[in-house]
Amino acid sequence: MTAAPVRRRGRILLSSPDVGGREQELVAEAIASGWIAPLGPMVDAFEQRIAERCGRAHAVALSSGTAALHLALLELGARPGRAVIVPTMTFIATANAVVYTGAEPVFVDCDPETGILSPALLEEALAALQAEGTTVAAVVPVDLLGRCADYPVLDGICARYGVPVVSDAAEALGSSWRGRPAGSSGVMAALSFNGNKIMTTSGGGMLLTDDAATAQRIRYLSTQARQPAVHYEHTEVGYNYRLSNVLAALGLAQLERLDEMIGRRRALREHYAALVDGVPGVRVFQREGDAGDNCWLTALLVDPAEAGWSVDDLRGALDLADIESRPLWNPMHRQPVFTGARGHLDGSADRLFATGLTLPSGSSLSADQVDDVLETMGAFLEQRR
Ligand SMILES: *Cc1c(COP(=O)(O)O)cnc(C)c1O
Repeated sequence: MTAAPVRRRGRILLSSPDVGGREQELVAEAIASGWIAPLGPMVDAFEQRIAERCGRAHAVALSSGTAALHLALLELGARPGRAVIVPTMTFIATANAVVYTGAEPVFVDCDPETGILSPALLEEALAALQAEGTTVAAVVPVDLLGRCADYPVLDGICARYGVPVVSDAAEALGSSWRGRPAGSSGVMAALSFNGNKIMTTSGGGMLLTDDAATAQRIRYLSTQARQPAVHYEHTEVGYNYRLSNVLAALGLAQLERLDEMIGRRRALREHYAALVDGVPGVRVFQREGDAGDNCWLTALLVDPAEAGWSVDDLRGALDLADIESRPLWNPMHRQPVFTGARGHLDGSADRLFATGLTLPSGSSLSADQVDDVLETMGAFLEQRR
């Protein structure tokens, strides 16, 4: 019954940045070039490569994924008196971007298997908001943990209500679904290069679109809405949201390694899947049809009645061995900051939150660290059999 002894190594984290020599090289090059500001050749090249990778005509590099969502929603007319539909199963950035515009976030529950925005409940929410005369500025499906939403289905529903789709692909760069790359859906899509994402610029994001005028507007809004004049002239309020050329250099280096990093995350998922294969009441979240997923985070779903233990038990065992694991996103309708917010909910996100646990999934984990995690989990499973 004794837990595995804690070995002398740093804590193993869920998803650490994976940067090395190539990143140092390109960042040094950016600094040597003198382009230190939030514009320059590395920003241009980074935008172009990301646009190509995601099958988009235009990409605008921004200071965060949240900034990309914020500007996308502003551009679509989100403002006080209007609503924006957001999945309740997401990271809070999706909902915060709505609040920044003054619009009302309306939370919609998810498919119980994938955690992705439920088409039936989305339809219910759109019908209810239309019936009361509330304008819905946008619907923001989230590509949860790197699994793309089923855009053909969601687009069809939104089109019937005349509501545009903004794809929150912050977690899904490099994924694809039915042949469509993450970031290629919606009138606009947002990517994140935060430190814990599949690739990082330390902090950063990207807005994707196929419309040249939209890209131009986003660029303008992200640089303090400066009018083309020799002096500083502003006719509306803008933001300081552009990405630094130095950070774009980091992004270019990471993008060269994206497929390799996805491969490492996938290998981890395969290890976890093999480990829990045949364990009653335990399965890998989003495992079905995951061939195109970037495997940003791998999570287990545990039915405590069948397994005889809960995700909290496993989290405790991992924590003793200095290994980080974390529940899935705590749904937005459960967040104290959104008390009283409206939602169309059926308990699916609540169940995923109660039964899901995300595991160390980072591409920078060493072979020894991976062995440690698998041994610790293996010992736990053995003990609880
Ligand atoms: C990380 C994340 C964001 C925000 O990206 P930042 O770059 O951290 O601002 C938005 N939505 C989802 C679903 C995310 O996971």
